[in-house]
Amino acid sequence: MKFFFPDSQDQVDPSFNFETEDRSESRLRHRDDHYAHQEFVSAPFDGILLSMAVIETGGRYTLAQKHRLYRMGIRRFFGLEDTKIETMGDCGAFSYVREDTPPYSVSQVINFYDELGLDYGISVDHVILGFDPRLDEASAPKDWKRRQEITLELAGEFLEEHRKRRSRFTALGVAQGWSPASYAYSVEQLQKLGFSYIAMGGMVPLKTHEILACLERVNQSRNPDTRLHLLGVTRCEQVREFARFGVASFDSTSPLRQAFKDLKDNYWTLDRTYSAIRVPQVQANPSLLRKIVAGRVNQSEARRLEQASLKALQLFDAGNISVDDALGPLLEYESLYDDGPSRSEIYRETLLEAPWRSCDCDICKRIGIHVILFRGAERNRRRGFHNVFVFYQRLHRELGVEDKAECLVLNSGGLK
Ligand SMILES: [Zn+2]
Repeated sequence: MKFFFPDSQDQVDPSFNFETEDRSESRLRHRDDHYAHQEFVSAPFDGILLSMAVIETGGRYTLAQKHRLYRMGIRRFFGLEDTKIETMGDCGAFSYVREDTPPYSVSQVINFYDELGLDYGISVDHVILGFDPRLDEASAPKDWKRRQEITLELAGEFLEEHRKRRSRFTALGVAQGWSPASYAYSVEQLQKLGFSYIAMGGMVPLKTHEILACLERVNQSRNPDTRLHLLGVTRCEQVREFARFGVASFDSTSPLRQAFKDLKDNYWTLDRTYSAIRVPQVQANPSLLRKIVAGRVNQSEARRLEQASLKALQLFDAGNISVDDALGPLLEYESLYDDGPSRSEIYRETLLEAPWRSCDCDICKRIGIHVILFRGAERNRRRGFHNVFVFYQRLHRELGVEDKAECLVLNSGGLK
């Protein structure tokens, strides 16, 4: 089963110095920065998923980057030339879910896939925002049925144009539905059109048992050679079941995003998660800045505790001070910016178990304790990349792949 990592221009600066927090003066953003796969000797995913919406409207790409992407093509732009990493494109249908119809035409989307040189292209779709297995075609809201029909019509046009232009990418149709039966109906129609690789859309909000019910039903209608892709679904515990129902690939950003969006499950290991340790930058923490402006916190005192926390964590990692000594300045600093309950116990656990010391990934080996500090994009993104690495290992463990070398794609263009 292949894991595609969705691009949202998450890069890190290899020149960033974690002790001084300085960068190389000659560093050029993007050109010198690294994507996730470039931080590892072996890439922690099989492919990159690029959404048209991220490039066109997401605000992630500057105009200059967009031009460079079109000029260079996807492989050169992401530094994939010497890797086996595959590339897949979709429209990013959740970004226009509130609109009446998809904002992109079939030819626009095929142009996008052709020009960038993608390996796989997903047809234009429209997400149904609702799930109710009790409703059939007659009783489901008209809008749900309409979105399913739009998606099927566009898939037909997509395949026709793909054939006419002799596009080189592999075309995927999208199945949208609101119940196991309606998803199966979509899959049947797509197979009739000629698709043998089908993306299951709109499943992000579904519960695991609902996803499984849909896949089980779809499996009864699935031709033996039809493969499925799950859009935006990460349920590592279920991958064996997914594989049984014909799922050949999926994509997900959650391992990355949990690193800095979750309240406490920020750092993944094979068997559990740990909380990252917050050492916010005084200048970048809104709650702290408000208190400083209101005169409730002394700015130089905040700065002093910020620096003392960083110093204490480095001394702790070097084995020079105890957990309690490291926690002292951290908790004192925390009381300045956070009025909620103290994180002392979860921090103590993170420090006592020091999971970064036993992690095999290139990031933990390179930056040590900094990977677990919740502070600025350079650390937070690297922790996200570490999570992606661990997720990929978990995935193969669940699938029962014994020989890791078999499943990790060697990325010779990675480390500089
Ligand atoms: Zn790691």
